[in-house]
Amino acid sequence: MSPYDETTSAVSSSADGEDRAVEAALRPKDLGEFIGQERVREQLSLVLQAARHRAATPDHVLLSGPPGLGKTTLSMIIAAEMNAPIRITSGPAIQHAGDLAAILSSLTEGEVLFLDEIHRMSRPAEEMLYMAMEDFRVDVIVGKGPGATAIPLELPPFTLVGATTRAGLLPPPLRDRFGFTGHMEFYAPVELERVIHRSARLLDVRIDTAGAAEIAGRSRGTPRIANRLLRRVRDFAQVRHDGEVTREIAAAALGVYEVDERGLDRLDRAVLQALLKLFGGGPVGLSTLAVAVGEESETVEEVAEPFLVREGLLARTPRGRIATAAAWQHLGLTPPPAPPHTSLPAQQDLFGDAAEG
Ligand code: ADP
Repeated sequence: MSPYDETTSAVSSSADGEDRAVEAALRPKDLGEFIGQERVREQLSLVLQAARHRAATPDHVLLSGPPGLGKTTLSMIIAAEMNAPIRITSGPAIQHAGDLAAILSSLTEGEVLFLDEIHRMSRPAEEMLYMAMEDFRVDVIVGKGPGATAIPLELPPFTLVGATTRAGLLPPPLRDRFGFTGHMEFYAPVELERVIHRSARLLDVRIDTAGAAEIAGRSRGTPRIANRLLRRVRDFAQVRHDGEVTREIAAAALGVYEVDERGLDRLDRAVLQALLKLFGGGPVGLSTLAVAVGEESETVEEVAEPFLVREGLLARTPRGRIATAAAWQHLGLTPPPAPPHTSLPAQQDLFGDAAEG
């Protein structure tokens, strides 16, 4: 098997070049258009309304959750709802405090600064951010060694929107400086169906209810994946059929892209198959499992396992990885009979009259 390349999987949750080009056109523009995430939407709506009421800049906002759930979209909505410009950058792009100082000092009043992957910022930049968030001020260091001096620089009030895949990775002093934290959840299938219908309308794709449901069920609770699968299904419908997306066409198209009815891709299934067929359902160590599928341990652990665990198909135990009953069922295989010592003794045995039966 060729090494698995996450960027070519139709169900990868990170954005590829095509996603970035299309996503701009598909992003909801205001809170009313944003589907699902009811709790975050309501909380955020209150924060924004209160800020508008006071004619003030909204508190800093932290959005946490896996990729592709709408964190960038929400940051743009915050700016749009406040009628403010937005600047977009990311933690890995800010390696030196000077990089951050340059961005902060060029912000205009009320501007929204979206900082994606905020947990990956360098330490000195992070410390500069504390002061900027709290006092709207940074100290710019001029010169080196004993002659270095800190020149305080006033900043206009701005709103920082930080995004992170895990809020727990943020140092508490940074976390505490956000006035509001929104935890983004995976989307329910019915919500993804709405996302798909909306995107289909914008992309001028004809799709029926069953077609949208079929795509939603394979989208791993993630709008970015739903939008991508919709585009692949659209291609198939246009090339091989008359362009309309039905359940049969969606299923056939996603079969071509090796995305099964539960959203598992080639690697996910290879891992499950090895676990079931070669190791009888486990327990088996991660590195052994990785060798069996011809992948690096990290790829199996970071790319395949989180979704398999979330789906209740695989469990991580201190003795190794084990398959659940649902995994056997999903691959249409029969689990081996339980070893004798784990089965309950038959009723007759308890009374010592088993021989008669
Ligand atoms: P993140 O920043 O969390 O990785 P994005 O905001 O870039 O995710 O969203 C990815 C794609 O999914 C975008 O094209 C966006 O249009 C779509 N999307 C995300 N959330 C929603 C939603 N609630 N309603 C409709 N589309 C959404």
